[in-house]
Amino acid sequence: MNVNTDPKTRLLWYRIFPSPLGHILIAQSDRGIAAIEFLEPDKSLRASRLSRKPELELARGRDGQDIEGAYQDLLDYLHGRRRGFDWPLDLRWVRSEFHRSVLEATAAIPYGSVVSYAGLARLIGRPSAARPVAQALRWNPLPIVIPCHRVVGSSGALTGYAGNKVALKQRLLSLEGVPTVRAGKTGPLTIQTQAMYVRHPGERAYCLPTCPSVLPCGRATLLRIASRERAEEAGLAPCRICRPDLNPLPRAPCQAVFS
Ligand SMILES: [Zn+2]
Repeated sequence: MNVNTDPKTRLLWYRIFPSPLGHILIAQSDRGIAAIEFLEPDKSLRASRLSRKPELELARGRDGQDIEGAYQDLLDYLHGRRRGFDWPLDLRWVRSEFHRSVLEATAAIPYGSVVSYAGLARLIGRPSAARPVAQALRWNPLPIVIPCHRVVGSSGALTGYAGNKVALKQRLLSLEGVPTVRAGKTGPLTIQTQAMYVRHPGERAYCLPTCPSVLPCGRATLLRIASRERAEEAGLAPCRICRPDLNPLPRAPCQAVFS
C-alpha cells in the first residue's frame, strides 16, 4: 500500500457514481484516493460522512482526475476483472496509530480469504482488542480497497459492514469465492468454515480445516481461504501432513453476484 499520512492539505475532490452496489462516492486529495463511501439510499453529498467533517473542504471533481480511473478500476473489481488496487492512498484522516495499524493489517488479507476480528487483533499485537478492531473497521475510509469485508466474527458471522450492510459484505465475499450460509431462516449469515482451507499466521503452507496441526486454541487466528486456487495465488504450498492437494475439499456452491 502506498500511503501518505502528512496532515496538511484539507481539500478533497469528490464524485458520485452509479455502481452495482448502489451509488458510491470517491474522493481524492492531491496525495491520493482518500475516501470511498456507499451512499444508498440517499445519493447526495449530504449523506456522506465527509460532509460532517468541518476540517475538510469539499469540491466537485473535474473530468480527467484520478477519481475517474479509480471508478473504472472499482467496476472492474466488482465484475471480477481485477483483484486489487495500486492507487496511492491518502490516510491522513485516520484517527490514530491503532486505527492505522488495523487498516494496514486488513489491507494485507489476500483476495478470497477471511480472518476474524480477534485474529486481526492478535496479528497487530493487541490480542484483547477484538472489539476496538471491529470499531476501527466501521470507520474504514476506503472499503473494498482496504478489504474490511474480509474480517468476520469469531463464529464466522458476517457482522457489521458499513453500518449494517451485511448483505453487501456477503456479495463482496461471494465475488471472491468465499462460501457463506444463513444459519436457519433467521440466523446470521456466516462463512462456511468447514468448506474453507486454513493457514496459521506466518506459515507458508495451507491446510484442511481438519488437519491435526490446527489446534482448537489457535482457531481464532486462522486465515480461512476459499479455495486451493486462492491459496496458491497467495503463494502458499499444500501442508505435508494433511495434503489438501491430494484430499481437496468439495467445492461449495457460490453464486455469481454482480451483473
Ligand atoms: Zn495440514
